[in-house]
Amino acid sequence: MTEGVQTPSAFTPRIFSGIKPSGGLTLGNYLGAIQKFVAAQEAGTESIFCVVDLHAITVWQDPEDLRNATREVAAGYIASGIDPTKSILFNQSQVHEHAELAWIFNCVARVGWMNRMTQFKEKAGKNAEKQSLGLYAYPSLMAADILLYHATHVPVGEDQKQHVELTRDIAAKFNHDYKVDFFPITEPVIEGPAVRVMNLRDGSKKMSKSGESDMERINMLDDADKIAKKFKKAKTDPEPLPDTMDGLADRPEARNLVNIYASLSGQSSDAVIAEYAGAGWGKFKPALADLAVDKLAPISEEMRRLMDDPSEIDKILAHGAEQARAIAAPILKRTYEIVGMVR
Ligand code: ATP
Ligand code: MG
Repeated sequence: MTEGVQTPSAFTPRIFSGIKPSGGLTLGNYLGAIQKFVAAQEAGTESIFCVVDLHAITVWQDPEDLRNATREVAAGYIASGIDPTKSILFNQSQVHEHAELAWIFNCVARVGWMNRMTQFKEKAGKNAEKQSLGLYAYPSLMAADILLYHATHVPVGEDQKQHVELTRDIAAKFNHDYKVDFFPITEPVIEGPAVRVMNLRDGSKKMSKSGESDMERINMLDDADKIAKKFKKAKTDPEPLPDTMDGLADRPEARNLVNIYASLSGQSSDAVIAEYAGAGWGKFKPALADLAVDKLAPISEEMRRLMDDPSEIDKILAHGAEQARAIAAPILKRTYEIVGMVR
C-alpha cells in the first residue's frame, strides 16, 4: 500500500462531466446532462464541467466550426445555470494532463474491453477500418477526464453508462496492478425521465448533436417556430395517449414525447400521462412545444448574448482551466510516481 492514499469510499464527493463540441447543443444534452449538472451545483457538490474538445476531433471537425462549437457549449452551460464562480468550467485541451493520463490508461485498458464498446460500433457503423484510432480509444480518454479529478460521481445520459463502467474497470485494474487505492471507483448518476431522449423521426435511435437530419433533434438555439414545427412533424402513431405509462410499452415515439414533457416540466412521466389520458397528438404536441419554448427561449437568448462576446467566454474557460489544473497536476504527478516514471 502506497503511503498517504485513500480508500475509494474515503474520497470526498466530487462531480465531473463533459460535453463534446461536435455540433450545437440539443434538448437531449440539456435534459440528459446539463439540467442535472445545474442541480448538482445547486446542491452544493463540488463540480467540474468540461467542454471536451479532444473528444470532438475523434471525428473530423472543421477548425473554425470547432472553435465556435466550443464557445457555444460553454455558453449553453452558463446560460442554463452553470455558474463559473461555483463550478469549474473549462475546455479539455487547456489542461494537458487529460491527454497524459489517457496515455497511461491506454496501457491499463485491454483491447478486449474496447471491443465491447457499443458507442464505437454505432458510430463506426460498417466502416470501422476507416475510423480514427482516437474514436476507438475515446473511452480511455473519458476515464482520464473523470479520474484526473478523483471524481466520485458522473452525471450522464444512459448512452454513456458503458463508458463510466469502463472507467471503473480501469480504476480498479490500475489500483490492483500497482497495489494502491489511488483512483476512486466512480458512480454514474443516470436519473429521471429523460436519461435517453430519442430521435424525433426514429424512436429506436437517440437524439444526437451529430445526427444526420436537423428535423430529428431540437437544438437549444432553435426558435419557437422551429421547435413547434419539429414537434408537429415528430413521428408518432395514430392512437391517443393511454392513462398509464405501461400503455406506452410498445410505442417508443409516444413514450419519448411524454418523457420529454415530464423532464421539461419537472414532473414524473406517470403524472403527465395521467393528466393527458385520452388526449390526441393535436392536443399533446402543441402543449409540448409551448413547454419547450418556455424553457428554452430564455436560455437561447442568454446563449446568443454570451456568444456575442467570445473573448469573455474565452476568459472564463481560461480561468476554469487554471482551477482544473490545480487539482489535476498533483494527481497526475502522483500517478507518474506510482507507475515508476523518474521525475
Ligand atoms: P455526438 O452525436 O457528437 O456524440 P451527443 O449529442 O451524443 O453528441 P455528447 O457530447 O456525446 O452529445 O454527450 C454529452 C452528454 O449528453 C452526455 O452526458 C450524454 O450522455 C448526454 N446525452 C447525449 N445525448 C443524449 C440523449 N439523447 N438523451 C439523454 N442524454 C444525452
Ligand atoms: Mg454522444
